[in-house]
Amino acid sequence: MPRQLVIAIDGPAASGKSTTARLVAERLGYLYIDTGAMYRAMGLKARRLGIPLADLAAVAAMAERTEVRQQQVPGGVATFLDGEDVSAAIRSPEISQAASDISTISAVRRRLVALQQAMGRSGGVVMEGRDIGTVVFPDAEVKVYMEASLAERARRRGSELSARGIAARADELESQIAARDRQDSGRHDSPLARAPGAVVIDTTGMSIAQQVERVAALAAAAKERSS
Ligand code: C5P
Repeated sequence: MPRQLVIAIDGPAASGKSTTARLVAERLGYLYIDTGAMYRAMGLKARRLGIPLADLAAVAAMAERTEVRQQQVPGGVATFLDGEDVSAAIRSPEISQAASDISTISAVRRRLVALQQAMGRSGGVVMEGRDIGTVVFPDAEVKVYMEASLAERARRRGSELSARGIAARADELESQIAARDRQDSGRHDSPLARAPGAVVIDTTGMSIAQQVERVAALAAAAKERSS
């Protein structure tokens, strides 16, 4: 049997990565891995324990002792932090920022990248995040960089939040997302960047179905090349 692919999808917040990655994985029968959720879980834990992020040694010690696991569930993936299902708890705007803050710390990245590489070692994964094509799987057979205008991304995040009963102002979402993008692109360790060879998809004005078709076509072409 030919080796199953690694499909790496990177891009800024709310660019359409998660939905597209999940649906492509479903279509191909691959595992879907949401690496952002893993950084969110680490951010949540540090907050709960009151560990200041300036205390790098304490954060590193915490990260080394922390288990973050993803489990496929109908319609997506659940995230477990030391055995507790934190899938809902990690979705607030505060935890978005906490994830971005803690993800600048190299010890945290080392721990999570090792877990991610173990999950994708045998292929058959669609993994989305900020550094999948650049750091986690630089040899992925399919690399995609998804982007969309800031206004469109804030609109999408607003509808996601309102579907969960969380009200948010569009202008506030725009500035939160822009601040997070700046921090994610500007950090020293594994900044958000287009991986060499990544196919850029601007999802502004594209439907989810179109995004899924586009990535599935790239996967089919990569399968063809590898057989
Ligand atoms: O993708 P999501 O918005 O849930 O990610 C939350 C935060 O986790 C991002 O803003 C980013 O700082 C961090 N992250 C990262 N590397 C990844 C995935 C997410 O640094 N591979």
